[in-house]
Amino acid sequence: LSERLPLRDAGDELDHLAITINGLLDRIADYLQEKHDFLANAAHELRTPLAAIRSSVEVALSKGRSSAEYEELLAEMIEECASLESLVNQLLLLAESDADRLRVSAERTSLSDVVKTAIDMFQPVAEFRGLRIESYSLTPCTVIGNRLHLRQVMNNLLDNAIKFTAARYDDETNENRGSGVVRVSLFVNEEKGLAEVVVSDNGIGIPEKHLPHIFERFYRVDRKRSRGSSVGGTGLGLCICAAIINAHHGEISATSRDNEGTTFRFTIPIAKPLSSIAAAPATAV
Ligand code: ADP
Repeated sequence: LSERLPLRDAGDELDHLAITINGLLDRIADYLQEKHDFLANAAHELRTPLAAIRSSVEVALSKGRSSAEYEELLAEMIEECASLESLVNQLLLLAESDADRLRVSAERTSLSDVVKTAIDMFQPVAEFRGLRIESYSLTPCTVIGNRLHLRQVMNNLLDNAIKFTAARYDDETNENRGSGVVRVSLFVNEEKGLAEVVVSDNGIGIPEKHLPHIFERFYRVDRKRSRGSSVGGTGLGLCICAAIINAHHGEISATSRDNEGTTFRFTIPIAKPLSSIAAAPATAV
């Protein structure tokens, strides 16, 4: 695939054909490279929890452990199994999206309920890390979609917002505790027929040069920038959000200022009211 057809510079049909074929070869090579990188990254990420499980098993097999130690080792193993499971689920979802099989079930789902549930779930985590989640104008609205997938989008965005805001405000003196805020809102634009969810934070922000890449697979901004040690991640969260929102015929985007904060927005078409569907005149077949 590294070879390309030579051009004769005659500007004739043969040259045009060669240019077209070379272009196709470039695209195939890029595609294969992308697949190769994906596989290599996935294998690398899978190896980390596997290695941790292996070392816990080795310690457990060594003689003279107390039952308290066994319990601790088993708890560690369960945790690593959970992260393996989550990683495998993320990879499966991306594989479905690649094969264009990430279909949205035709289920009427309350987006406002999904957003509220996610906020309620993350509020204790935020408080524990000295942050607040504030919600504004969560307009009730219904979309056609997969509740679990939409919940996953909210979970990923809130998890990141909390993680990368705590990373800015975490310090041992607790001086800044309470200054970190994550704001969530849900507006409905009736004219455009769109629901828009906004999740913004005043965390570490994303430097301009990294911003265009954050929805790429396995992309992570330099982890050393954040002070907290618990900022680890796979770099898959945002590309999963994008895959899910695309499957819902919506759009997702981000704006950010380094060291000031980040805002994610996604839109999804709102569902037609049931009354308007029932009232639609029957069409003759
Ligand atoms: P990760 O598992 O690393 O969080 P994501 O795909 O969710 O992966 O995010 C990709 C990268 O984008 C993160 O590693 C981080 O550098 C950056 N990022 C995402 N959300 C935020 C945020 N709210 N504030 C600052 N940086 C963020």
